[in-house]
Amino acid sequence: MLDRPFSPDTQIVSRKQQPPVLERGCDICVIGSGASGISAAVEAARAGRSVILVDGLPSLGGQAVNSIIGMFCGLYTPGKEGRQLTHGIADEIIRDLGATDDVKVVAGGVMKVAMYNEVALGRWVEKAVSAAGVTPLTGALIRGVNQQGRRITSLDVATRHGDVRITATGFIDATGDAAVAWEGGYDCQIHKGGQIYGSQMLVIEDFDDSKKPSWDEMATRIREKGGKYGMMRRDGFAASFPGRNVAIVNMTHIETPLDPFDAAAKQIDGKEQADRTLNFLHAEFPEAFGRARIRAYGLPGIRQTRWIVGTHHLTTAEVRAGTRFDDAIARCSWPLEQHHNREGYVWEVFPDDHIHWIPLGSLTVAGADNLCAVGRCIDADSSALSSVRVMGPCIAMGRAAAHALDLAGSGSVHAIDIKALQARLKDNLEF
Ligand SMILES: Cc1cc2nc3c(=O)[nH]c(=O)nc-3n(C[C@H](O)[C@H](O)[C@H](O)COP(=O)(O)OP(=O)(O)OC[C@H]3O[C@@H](n4cnc5c(N)ncnc54)[C@H](O)[C@@H]3O)c2cc1C
Repeated sequence: MLDRPFSPDTQIVSRKQQPPVLERGCDICVIGSGASGISAAVEAARAGRSVILVDGLPSLGGQAVNSIIGMFCGLYTPGKEGRQLTHGIADEIIRDLGATDDVKVVAGGVMKVAMYNEVALGRWVEKAVSAAGVTPLTGALIRGVNQQGRRITSLDVATRHGDVRITATGFIDATGDAAVAWEGGYDCQIHKGGQIYGSQMLVIEDFDDSKKPSWDEMATRIREKGGKYGMMRRDGFAASFPGRNVAIVNMTHIETPLDPFDAAAKQIDGKEQADRTLNFLHAEFPEAFGRARIRAYGLPGIRQTRWIVGTHHLTTAEVRAGTRFDDAIARCSWPLEQHHNREGYVWEVFPDDHIHWIPLGSLTVAGADNLCAVGRCIDADSSALSSVRVMGPCIAMGRAAAHALDLAGSGSVHAIDIKALQARLKDNLEF
């Protein structure tokens, strides 16, 4: 201790007095707080489990909030009269945010979607997590996964306030990048020879909605003139939130590499592309967008990077055929929506009566008894994943994983009573 005076309202502390690792235990640890992770955490807590919800970002909500995705897709069957496929927290979001006009269910061109205000959704998520008694741990990145045989016993995470070890009976990988499976050394999949592009989302304000071009007109103009403005992607849309003078703009394609330096560089590249998009809108549609300004850039929108090897690989053929698996836990009708070329995306819309199914086997990590993946990192081929990763089915998968691990307890998620699980998920499986 220095021989000098200190202010009476300070206390001298040093690292040596702190335990090197803070340990906490829970029944179910969910890593990742996007649409799938929030659903998983809230459902597990409501099933009576103690839950810790970990996220690397300093706030909750994943891409739904922080990348400003702006609309829940995949909640309804095709057609303007679409029927709701997923319930659980989806019902509560529509009810609570609908009451303040922060959600609007709109019949889009081919599908009904629920548009939302991302600021209101962010607060809804925080309140839902608190009300359910979930313990959040934000700003916490996975540093290690500890195992005994086929079970994960604990997770080591690093926070700005020190290292934490979380022990749990079950773990849910809702990281989108299969980060838990990867750190645990389980086999994972990556795309071979090419990119699945992400997008830099934008919120714009101060435009004239009544003069906005149609989606087709916009798409044609981007195709014809986008190159002049340096736009890489040559399609996209600006979707206005009904009754508010704001729109979400989805017109960029950005690479989303797993190399940390490349990822940081591409984040800036995404914003440059977004600025070019605004130049295009200003110049090509001056009546509608001449005064438009960017109100917010989302965090990089990441569609697909690395995903698990489950016990079932969901294929495009199964999606097209609407194969109903014995262990079906969620359903979806969203089109195949592949973003694997720079210029645009490939869109395959299904007929009005089409439904496809997600099996539990695509969520259960091969080789692990107490780990499920949910959301955009489940086991599927890239085209099948392009449909089932939208947020409606993400919510359904989160719910399914929570109940699967609840049923498994200290046993294996590979050996649960599927009928008992499906009974708990009934309204997500039947009308
Ligand atoms: C540009 C774009 C537009 C899209 N448009 C739509 C749309 O209109 N409607 C729709 O329904 N879907 C849309 N999608 C798809 C959908 O948004 C995503 O697939 C979905 O949000 C993924 O949710 P998730 O819960 O799987 O993961 P995410 O929302 O990606 O959440 C993963 C969370 O895990 C955390 N995490 C990751 N790694 C770690 C780690 N190592 N340690 C700790 N935390 C970690 C992250 O910080 C993040 O918060 C779009 C996707 C993109 C990229």
